[in-house]
Amino acid sequence: PYTGPSRDEILAMRKQFANPAVFTLYREPLLIVEGHMQYLYDETGRRYLDLFAGIVTVSVGHCHPTVVKRVQEQVATLQHATTIYLHPSFPLLAKKLAAKMPPGLDVTYFVNSGSEANDLAITMARLHTGHRDVIALRNAYHGGSPSAQGLTSHHTWKFPAGGDGHVHHVVNPDPYRSPFSGTPEEIATKSAREIREIVRYSTPGKIAAFIAEPIQGVGGATHGAPNYLREAYAITREHGGLCIADEVQTGFGRTGEHFWGFQNFGVVPDFVTMAKGIGNGAPLAAVTTRSDIAQALTQRIHFNTYGGNPVSMAAGLAVLDVIEQEGIQENARVVGGRLKAGLQRLQQSHALIGDVRGMGLMLGVELVRDRATKEPAQQQTLDVLEAMRESGALIGKGGLDGNVLRIKPPMCITAADVDFALDALDHALTLAARA
Ligand code: PMP
Repeated sequence: PYTGPSRDEILAMRKQFANPAVFTLYREPLLIVEGHMQYLYDETGRRYLDLFAGIVTVSVGHCHPTVVKRVQEQVATLQHATTIYLHPSFPLLAKKLAAKMPPGLDVTYFVNSGSEANDLAITMARLHTGHRDVIALRNAYHGGSPSAQGLTSHHTWKFPAGGDGHVHHVVNPDPYRSPFSGTPEEIATKSAREIREIVRYSTPGKIAAFIAEPIQGVGGATHGAPNYLREAYAITREHGGLCIADEVQTGFGRTGEHFWGFQNFGVVPDFVTMAKGIGNGAPLAAVTTRSDIAQALTQRIHFNTYGGNPVSMAAGLAVLDVIEQEGIQENARVVGGRLKAGLQRLQQSHALIGDVRGMGLMLGVELVRDRATKEPAQQQTLDVLEAMRESGALIGKGGLDGNVLRIKPPMCITAADVDFALDALDHALTLAARA
């Protein structure tokens, strides 16, 4: 049993000593002291079904025994020496990632967070192309470092300090809230055309890069019709730009059908940035690109102290093994399909649900006060989160207006867990609508 400080003591310490920008989710913050696979435990031993996976990070399960064992062994053997010396695990993980990529995408730089991975991809794109301007999507989240913050496209995550001045945001192809009309495919085409317009009006006519999450995560599981990325990549390349797929949330089998999110859209990017699921909770991120592009980074010295460290590499190697050995991607496809079908059924009986979207175990449920006006149901979203917690299930929220339920559990979740989650959500939506 848990013997540490009480929830109230921890809260008081946080209030006094933590930077106040570090926020918590629930009205009464939850103390989590243990995790096992798809479950989290509070200090009283109460179990919660984790439907948010530490913000889409715990890919194969909390404290997965294989990952734990291999990380423990590595910590006890060599924790750190840096990449100025050789160690087998760094090139081995890079080689295994290359094997998961389309041909040509075969060199990797390891860093420690998604923000760093995106920073580095943008730097390489600018160096390689000699151009400066970057196109990102509205409603994107690419990180909180000064330059990644420039890519991020929610005013709520941007500060009037720092930021990258040469980023232009184009309309995203999500058909639910698009300013364009038509079928999802027509909306995708009209949205992609905006890239050409912004290049013509706001840049010197040539760009360094286009960056997009195949499915926007923080933005609320939004994505376009399959033709969007294909058309967007073609227009980007017409203007000298490189294409960056931010797979921080969508990678490692989460979308079910494919290992990478971009594969659902039939495109081949020039950079793949990844974090979160690659380490199952270990601070590990990476950017994979072509060697001719990566060459640009050798014109000066570039170094990352913790990047490629043996402990994070051990975690990454173990995660890849587990994904393969335990059929994690196939589970995301099958169980995710069951979950999405269940959510679509709930949409028929709950007027609060405006939209159900996403793929595999990367799902979003947008709540609206009125299906005709699509007015965001912010308060009801918070109420649903609280009611789900009461039932023993933890989900996330997202979207610019905070009105999208984000359901992205550890990918070891079972059909029985999904059925429980749907029951809990049914109940929570009923309570939220009544309040
Ligand atoms: N890209 C995406 C798609 C993300 O969801 C996030 C984190 N939510 C990041 C980048 C930034 O990652 P980190 O917090 O590790 O810097």
